[in-house]
Amino acid sequence: MPRKLTAKKLLAKFPKLEHKAGFLTDLACPKCGNADRTVKIDCKVICKLDEHETQPDGDYEWDGKSYCECRECHHYATVKDFTFKGLDDLIAEAQDSQQPEGVCDDGSIAK
Ligand SMILES: [Zn+2]
Repeated sequence: MPRKLTAKKLLAKFPKLEHKAGFLTDLACPKCGNADRTVKIDCKVICKLDEHETQPDGDYEWDGKSYCECRECHHYATVKDFTFKGLDDLIAEAQDSQQPEGVCDDGSIAK
């Protein structure tokens, strides 16, 4: 069995991963990296239905065992398999260190 992919290894493999603000923290496709980090997740949600439409009425719920599919390469597994603890922090750190210091018009360094 290969060792489980860690957030650090995933980022080394897919350096284009970007930090995403929002609720899908530390989530990425283990197979293709999927820089946009868009996935499909099997959710549970209460819906309001009538003869014309279906409307979600409440929070979408899922957990680590829920089905999760990459919208880029269609690799699928569980949410747990797509979750890399500390990934967003690592990405943020990597992006900070890559960013050149901002130089203002007057030549001073922006903080
Ligand atoms: Zn993928």
